[in-house]
Amino acid sequence: MQFTRLRLNGFKSFVDPTDLIIHPGLTGVVGPNGCGKSNLLEALRWVMGENRASAVRGAGMEDVIFAGTDSRGARHFAEVTLQLDNSARLAPAAFNHADTLEVVRRITRDAGSAYRINGKEVRARDVQMLFADASTGAHSPALVRQGQISELISAKPKARRRILEEAAGISGLYQRRHEAELR
Ligand code: ATP
Ligand code: MG
Repeated sequence: MQFTRLRLNGFKSFVDPTDLIIHPGLTGVVGPNGCGKSNLLEALRWVMGENRASAVRGAGMEDVIFAGTDSRGARHFAEVTLQLDNSARLAPAAFNHADTLEVVRRITRDAGSAYRINGKEVRARDVQMLFADASTGAHSPALVRQGQISELISAKPKARRRILEEAAGISGLYQRRHEAELR
């Protein structure tokens, strides 16, 4: 599934609603140090269901909310919207009735995260599964952090296998099997 638009609102340094239109092919993000390039990628990871604050360089998940500057007050929520082209109809059955999918994650101070897919409230797990099946997702090897290549080289066999499973697009199955075993 092709990502077509990323919208940030109150996420980290993106205090005002900001749209990133993603065209097919290669997209480059350039800018001076501290302008928010890494924040953009973290927003992508976050909307796909990332639940480790450390993965978005925070101590707690609320740290993704715009914290304020000398001239602007802090916000009380952050929202990221990811739009996907589903014209190939690859989404799970529950969400596979539209050509466009819109995944929204919103975090409010003291109220945690809420997710919506095409306006319908869903669980974090639904969003994570949607992307795990599409072999993207917050933990996908398609998103390479700084330092991750050296981690892959030095990873223990079990951890390396997990990375290969993500790349093969079978981690959704793996998660479902794990949940079935717990029941
Ligand atoms: P580099 O080229 O150095 O990697 P970058 O373009 O990747 O820089 P980021 O790390 O994405 O930059 O952005 C860092 C900026 O985001 C800093 O100025 C930091 O103050 C700001 N920032 C991070 N979290 C928040 C927040 N919660 N509220 C407001 N600003 C934030
Ligand atoms: Mg950076």
